[in-house]
Amino acid sequence: MATNPNVVIIGGGLAGLAGAIHLSQKGLKVTLIEKSGYSRHKVCGEYISNEILPYLQWLGADVLQLQPAKINNFEFTTRSGKITKSELPLGGIGVSRYALDNFLYQKAIANGCNILKETVIDVTLADNTFTVAISNQVLHAKIVFGAYGKRSNIDQVFSRGFITKKSTWLAVKAHYSGSFNADIVALYNFKGGYCGISKVENNVINICYLADYASFKKYKNIDDYHHNVLYKDKHLK
Ligand SMILES: Cc1cc2nc3c(=O)[nH]c(=O)nc-3n(C[C@H](O)[C@H](O)[C@H](O)COP(=O)(O)OP(=O)(O)OC[C@H]3O[C@@H](n4cnc5c(N)ncnc54)[C@H](O)[C@@H]3O)c2cc1C
Repeated sequence: MATNPNVVIIGGGLAGLAGAIHLSQKGLKVTLIEKSGYSRHKVCGEYISNEILPYLQWLGADVLQLQPAKINNFEFTTRSGKITKSELPLGGIGVSRYALDNFLYQKAIANGCNILKETVIDVTLADNTFTVAISNQVLHAKIVFGAYGKRSNIDQVFSRGFITKKSTWLAVKAHYSGSFNADIVALYNFKGGYCGISKVENNVINICYLADYASFKKYKNIDDYHHNVLYKDKHLK
């Protein structure tokens, strides 16, 4: 059924959810449309700078409740394996997107936001009002907040030039158990890409790397790539 929100937000990632919480806190009637459900894993380094904690506190979303890893040190390696270590003046936290996105989603619901699990297929503007189309209804609003990330079907709808160009990067992320200092975020460079390592809540290690697609496609699968490329770096092995 059609509703008449003040604001429609397209996309319920971090930007869309933070926007929904913020605007509903200011008294606006918000409908957020997100095509995927919650909770869900997302390819991400899962390291968040402490810079954003005051804003999250203001939103009433105290992420420290999720018991994130507290991170104050940084390690960086060059491709040749040389390591540099440094303290992080501001520091950060490690929290999984599985936990964080769901936490913000729950907060948006508690604030009274209307959240639809749908894919937006078109957005048009006429007479100063946006019409947002989803599978079986349209919504009208004076303000539409496009928080649909980087390579959405909406970019195709708007014929954005970059969407026709293939990204040269491939990202892989997984959670592991094992020993890694909870106080460190590491960025290890390897031939063909770079890899972030840090802990998140529950002592879990998040490993997330970006690989140049040209270097990746020589191998048949992720395991082969790990054995033939990542494990050649002593730190990553
Ligand atoms: C490999 C990698 C590692 C990263 N690591 C870090 C890190 O460690 N720390 C950090 O701070 N940042 C990191 N980032 C960046 C961070 O992930 C992004 O800045 C952040 O996710 C952007 O949030 P967003 O809400 O703008 O977009 P997204 O998180 O991409 O959210 C967009 C949402 O829109 C939805 N959507 C898209 N199209 C539609 C549609 N038509 N209808 C309905 N819904 C739609 C999608 O399902 C998605 O949920 C990383 C990014 C990558 C790629």
